[in-house]
Amino acid sequence: MEEAAKEGIYLCFYPFLSAASKYVEESGITLDNLIHTGTFRYARSRGKERIIEAIKNGKVRKQVIISNAQAETELLSYPFARILVSCIGDERLVRRYALSEAKAAYEKLLEDSSTGSSSDTAIIYEMSEEFGIRVDFLRLPGEREQVQMPFVDYLRFTANLRDKRWKLVNRGLEKGMIKLRKPEFVRIIQEAMYERIKKDLPLDVPVDICEAINGYTGDIKKELEEKRKKFGDAGFGFDFESGSGFLVKDPSCFPPCISYILSNLKEGVNVPHGARFAVTAFLLNVGLTEDEIIEIYKNSPDFDADRTRYQVEHIAGDKGGVRYTAPACATMRTYGNCIGNDEVCEKVSHPLSYYKLKLKLKRKKEQQGKSSQKEKDEKI
Ligand code: SF4
Repeated sequence: MEEAAKEGIYLCFYPFLSAASKYVEESGITLDNLIHTGTFRYARSRGKERIIEAIKNGKVRKQVIISNAQAETELLSYPFARILVSCIGDERLVRRYALSEAKAAYEKLLEDSSTGSSSDTAIIYEMSEEFGIRVDFLRLPGEREQVQMPFVDYLRFTANLRDKRWKLVNRGLEKGMIKLRKPEFVRIIQEAMYERIKKDLPLDVPVDICEAINGYTGDIKKELEEKRKKFGDAGFGFDFESGSGFLVKDPSCFPPCISYILSNLKEGVNVPHGARFAVTAFLLNVGLTEDEIIEIYKNSPDFDADRTRYQVEHIAGDKGGVRYTAPACATMRTYGNCIGNDEVCEKVSHPLSYYKLKLKLKRKKEQQGKSSQKEKDEKI
């Protein structure tokens, strides 16, 4: 395959790189072409698809690319997706979309840097250079390959990673450098990619352009609406009898603190450890299964299936441990996880009591509604 074609295929998987912008610029394709001409209709559809995949799956699907034409469509679909997401102007969608793109690129980079060839190191150097990170490979005899980076860069790119393994105290700091395993370094690159993708979004797109593409944005808004209707802002649709004897079918009865944490998890915002503990214990207490809870964490930027399972099982008291109870309001306040009182909050001292009381009030109201309807029917 000729070099230009190879480059196009490579760049379409990392469309946020400066080389990708340069490639598009040099191709001579204008914004007007991309938005209006039939030649680029596939790039426009794929741009819409990128965002719909982010809404539905939290990750942009990697395409199978076998020709340069396909690579060009894929590459052009990225700037078009940025225009679409900007015209919609929903902050949560912007975050979710950026994270979904970064996750897809991270997986591709893991794959591209584990081929067992010399290109493994080259791509890591290239990405590091792109994001201004100095990196060195260390190959000590008899030891696994390691990467080292300056601790200032490390601090910058791990600021949003909550897991304690990323804390500086848990890392060896030597002459201002931090040592990491290669996959850990790639995870840090994912943070840099996320920053790059999210940068400048939403773009300031002129109204006439947004109007010209409102067919695409309309489809995305419908998808977004459906997702929100189905899961609510807190993001859930449970319906079963819990072990503690009340029905868990209405997340609208969850207390504000829990809804807020769930909403952040759903949107891929990094949530501090204390809040994760509170929400996990709460959901276990109201009867969710461990698998259902692990599913909730899947959007977290630092999601690690094994680690999450271990933590959820620990809180659930599996393997002979203690089953934890959700923290009371006083503890939630101490750790900054109480996001403010509503009228139900004022009557309770525990988020679980909030939930029980809110369900009771809701049922009472429904019952009253039914009785007055019955009275009306009987009068007719
Ligand atoms: S008062 Fe209690 S239930 Fe209400 S938001 Fe705060 S912690 Fe949650």
